[in-house]
Amino acid sequence: MIGEKQNLKSLDAKLKKMTDWHVHIGQFNDVYYDYHDVFAALKNNDVDEIYLAYLTPIIKKEDVALQFYESVVHELKVVKRYAKKIQLNVNFLYWADPLVLKQLALEKIYDDFRYSGIALHPVLHNWTGEFTKELSDIFSFARKKSVQLFIHTGVSKNDEPLQFEKWFSEYPEVKVRLAHCKDSEPIIQLFQNYPNLSGDTAFCPTDSYDDICKAGFAERMFFGTDFPISHWYEHRNEKDKKYNVQQLTENYKKIIQITPPNQSP
Ligand SMILES: [Zn+2]
Repeated sequence: MIGEKQNLKSLDAKLKKMTDWHVHIGQFNDVYYDYHDVFAALKNNDVDEIYLAYLTPIIKKEDVALQFYESVVHELKVVKRYAKKIQLNVNFLYWADPLVLKQLALEKIYDDFRYSGIALHPVLHNWTGEFTKELSDIFSFARKKSVQLFIHTGVSKNDEPLQFEKWFSEYPEVKVRLAHCKDSEPIIQLFQNYPNLSGDTAFCPTDSYDDICKAGFAERMFFGTDFPISHWYEHRNEKDKKYNVQQLTENYKKIIQITPPNQSP
């Protein structure tokens, strides 16, 4: 009888979908993370669905930014076909670059690829909460098309989440996911005022996660890992940083265990 119950339990676990809301591919510092390897490691860990943003370098010139944008779209079309083949459900996020948006309309970018959301990186792409036409276009587009936004946040002046508050209040209908949630205080303050905000747990400290849950917002926190950045940090001091699928798989296994709410006691 107990055995039967156990079987039902494992069947239940198998049927439950595993989604990671924060994954990357591409070049991170000195390592290029190939999508075949990243996806294999995810599949080895029974991940069914991911939200994916292609890693981007800091680019300062408009023509280079446009070239990079075009090469990413080209690669992502291949990635999309591959993901379908291996039955990994991938939702692609567009890293909005003001240098590209000066040259291409957001509608065109969306038509080019059919992204699932728009990501903002305040440090990489110099977004601040200040008014710019590009940021205004993004929020208006997100409202009009019900597109979800994703914002990298942190604890420095450049990436603290409160800088975007006036946009959250002007566009309360737009759903925004705040990545990392490293400092619980501003996150709780924002969650209290804006019901359409949520967060992810990628590199989120346990204390911060606990505070957010205690404030009553556990269901607004989505599981994310920032994989394979987690792998880069684990191996950053090694001279030869060549990785393989097994090493990536092991890193993901570890990162699941230390990411809230799964962290080991
Ligand atoms: Zn990330």
